[in-house]
Amino acid sequence: MPPHASYSSPRPSACPGLWRIVSALDGGICRIKLPGGVLLAQQAEAVASAAERFAGGVIEATNRGNLQIRGVGPDHQGLVAALLAAGLGPREAAGDDVRNLMLSPLAGLDPAMVLDVRPLGGQILDLLEGTPRFHALSAKFALQLDAGERLAMLDHPHDLWLSVLELEQQPWLAFGLAGSLGESDVLGAVPFSQGLTLVRAMLERFLDLATPTQSRMRHVLQTCTAADFIDGLGVALRQDPAVLGWRRPVRPVTWLGALPQRRGVALGVAPPLGRLTPAMLREAARVAREQGDSSLRVTPWQSLVLPNLASGGIDQAQHSLMTVGLLCHAAEPLARISACTGASGCAKALSETKADAVALAALLGPGAPASVHLTGCPRSCALAHTAPATLLARAPGHYDLYQRDPRLPGFGALRATDITLNEAGAMLDLPTEHLDD
Ligand code: SF4
Repeated sequence: MPPHASYSSPRPSACPGLWRIVSALDGGICRIKLPGGVLLAQQAEAVASAAERFAGGVIEATNRGNLQIRGVGPDHQGLVAALLAAGLGPREAAGDDVRNLMLSPLAGLDPAMVLDVRPLGGQILDLLEGTPRFHALSAKFALQLDAGERLAMLDHPHDLWLSVLELEQQPWLAFGLAGSLGESDVLGAVPFSQGLTLVRAMLERFLDLATPTQSRMRHVLQTCTAADFIDGLGVALRQDPAVLGWRRPVRPVTWLGALPQRRGVALGVAPPLGRLTPAMLREAARVAREQGDSSLRVTPWQSLVLPNLASGGIDQAQHSLMTVGLLCHAAEPLARISACTGASGCAKALSETKADAVALAALLGPGAPASVHLTGCPRSCALAHTAPATLLARAPGHYDLYQRDPRLPGFGALRATDITLNEAGAMLDLPTEHLDD
């Protein structure tokens, strides 16, 4: 057993961690952070077995590209030991919470990438895990490292985002604070080779400035301007119009079905509503081992990518994965719906959002928005950004319907109140402008 296997609850936080198994109505929740979302086939099998042996067999893909096991029973030490034995822990317990670096699920493989950021990603994770001072960062403090991949999450806000761009045929690393890649302003850039130096300086500057109540970058930027923040970095920044006027290219994103790679092809599949059964994980691991490179990647869309598949085997792989209940096509209604845990697992939920989502999926037609989110309370903890349509529970089976509007905070414009699932299905199937009616 690794020396820290019996270490319990390394630090206080409401967020689940590997050792910090947080109680919910359906048992404990244990979160497994994956470096760059990568899960090896044997690790997937270990998670499936651990979920059966120490919990109720429910595994969730999170919207940060991690996994969590729900319904954990009393043997926390046995569960943690099994996960550590599979290489799913940090190098020391105190570094578990801060392993929050998002990469594209096709980092290093995507045809649109400027370069392979995985080596820098590994260095940043080592920095976070190996620097005791950085263990003081909040379990929610999150970074994103992007290289212009087509398959990239552009909507999730991050405390610090970094994106590779090419200037004068050289790679540079642009950055922004407390925003999303797709929307927030570029504040400066450094040569790509200075990326790790920049990240270290950013984290130190944040911790120098943050008061005990300021756990996120957006909090610090309420009392310090972004210009003052970066002035004190001690890193030479490029801030000319070529950098400050740059915008990260935004392209349509598909994460299901055959996904092109620079060489070869990947396959995206999704468990309905983000919930994996042990059988799904085992089958994905089997296909990855037999037809791919024995690895999976967990995505921020709560789905899986099987990279480096033999191109001739995609149809057979899809068929195998569909037989265990994984979704393979974006047009499937359930692939367009997300839902939080709901009343069976969360005391705050006003409805059984997961079951309601399944019922709603049967009512949705081709006119429905690309993404609909059901949330049991206004916290909306299951989605890190605002969906085009949000259903906020008011009572069992009854919801308020919101439509995303960038001019409005929160879920957007309130379109209907206290509607049933049938009414929601009918309204969502109308072209967007009719939601006003
Ligand atoms: S969004 Fe609210 S109801 Fe749903 S899981 Fe989170 S806290 Fe519970």
